[in-house]
Amino acid sequence: MQTGPVKYAALCVTHNCNLRCRYCYAGAKVDRRMTLQTAKHSVDFLAAQAHDKCIVTFFGGEPLLEFPLIREVVEYSRREHGNKIEFRMNTNGTLIKPEVLAFFKETGTYFAVSVDGSREQHDAIRRFADERGSYDRIAAKLPEILEFNPYTIAVSVIVPETVTYLASGVQDLFARRFRYVLQTLDYSAGWTSADISALREQYTLLAEYYFAKLRAGKKIYYSPFDERIKTWAQKPYGPGDLCDLANSQIAIAASGRIYPCVQFISTDDGTFQQNAIGTVHDGFDAQRREYFIAENYRDKESCRGCPLYGRCATYCGCVNWRATGSLSQVPPIVCEHERMLMPIVDKLANKLWKNNVTLFKRKFYERTFPVSSYIEDCLISRRKNRAENQTG
Ligand code: SF4
Ligand code: SF4
Repeated sequence: MQTGPVKYAALCVTHNCNLRCRYCYAGAKVDRRMTLQTAKHSVDFLAAQAHDKCIVTFFGGEPLLEFPLIREVVEYSRREHGNKIEFRMNTNGTLIKPEVLAFFKETGTYFAVSVDGSREQHDAIRRFADERGSYDRIAAKLPEILEFNPYTIAVSVIVPETVTYLASGVQDLFARRFRYVLQTLDYSAGWTSADISALREQYTLLAEYYFAKLRAGKKIYYSPFDERIKTWAQKPYGPGDLCDLANSQIAIAASGRIYPCVQFISTDDGTFQQNAIGTVHDGFDAQRREYFIAENYRDKESCRGCPLYGRCATYCGCVNWRATGSLSQVPPIVCEHERMLMPIVDKLANKLWKNNVTLFKRKFYERTFPVSSYIEDCLISRRKNRAENQTG
C-alpha cells in the first residue's frame, strides 16, 4: 500500500474541556495537555512529512483552554517552517476573546465553531460541566466571530431528541449570518423509525428553504445537501475522497502518539493505544499505518451493487469503525439515512436545474466558482462599507 504525504493533521492539545456534550467522542475529560516540546516536535514532524503544505487543526477537548501553547506553537512554526504549516482550529467558541481573535487575525488562523442550531437544540446536548446550557455564551460571541471571518463554519450535530427543531435550527444559523453549516448525525444515538420519519420531514422543509435561498442568489452551504448534490452534478466519490485516515490525514494526541484520525484517540491510554500508528518522536510505524490505510480503502461488501455506491457519504472509515468495529463495515443507520436523504436531495437538484437557478449552476458546474464568488463578496462588502462611510 502506497502512503502519501500528510496534508491534514489534528493536534489534540488537551484532553480537557469546559463542556460535557452528550455526543462527544473525545472520551473522559481529564486535565492532560500537550507540552510545548511535544507540540514543537509535532510541527517539525509534520513539516518533514508534508510536501508543500500541511493544514494543522488545533483540537481537543477544547483547544482554547491551551491558548498560550497555541500562540507559542504558531509563532515557532512561522519561524522554523514559514508558511509550510497553516493553522486552523475546531472550538466550542465559549472561550473566544478579543485577544484570541486579534492573534488569529495576525497569523491567518481560522476556525470552525460548534453550534448545533437553536437554543433548544444546542442546550439539550451542549452543556457546561455544571449542567448549564452553553447556547447564550456562544450566541453572544457569534457577531464578533463572523466579523472576524464571515466564512466561519458552523459545525452542528443532529440527535434524535431534538430532530423536530432541525429545520428551524438550521434556518436560525443562516439567519445569524453563517454561510457554511456542516452537519452530521450522531450515528451512535439510538435512532428509531419514528425519528427517521421526523428527520425526513425536516429535510423536506429544508429543501424548500435551500431552493428559495439559492433562487434569491443567497450563497449558503448546507453539507447534507451540498455534499450529495455534488455527486448528482459531478462525479461519484472515490476511495480517500471523503476520508483518507492514516494517510493524507492523521491525528496527534497530547502525548505525541499518532492516530489514524481524531476518532481513534479517545483518552489515549490503555485500550486506545492499540490504534496508534507511531509517535512524533520516533516516526510512523509503517506496518500499522499501512494496515489502517488498506482497511479504509477496502471494498465495502455490504455496498456492492447498490445504486448509491459512490454517491452516499459513507466513506468515513472512522464512523464505520466506531459503530461496527470495522473500517469497512457500514452501520445500518448510515445506510438508512443515505437512502432516506438521497431522493430528497435529487429532487431538489432537479428542481434547481429545471428552474435554471443561476447560483446553482455556477456553484456546481463552474470550476472557478470559489474564487469568483470570493472576489464578488469582497467587492460587495467594499461597496457597502463605502456607502456606510458616506452616510455616516
Ligand atoms: S465541546 Fe467538543 S470536546 Fe468539549 S465536550 Fe463538546 S464535543 Fe467534546
Ligand atoms: S446506501 Fe447503503 S448500501 Fe448503498 S452505498 Fe450507501 S451505505 Fe452502501
